[in-house]
Amino acid sequence: MTCPVCLAESERVRLFILKHPHVTPEQIAEATNVSKVKVSNMVKLGISK
Ligand SMILES: [Zn+2]
Repeated sequence: MTCPVCLAESERVRLFILKHPHVTPEQIAEATNVSKVKVSNMVKLGISK
């Protein structure tokens, strides 16, 4: 769950959401190259706050 790859991915997602607060999980997944499932989980966990 918290291996280096996952940490790097969640950091990319977090930074992208900071810059683009109103994009959909699909757009985040495309822009950050992280799977949509992972992005959805991160968003649900409130990583954007
Ligand atoms: Zn991992």
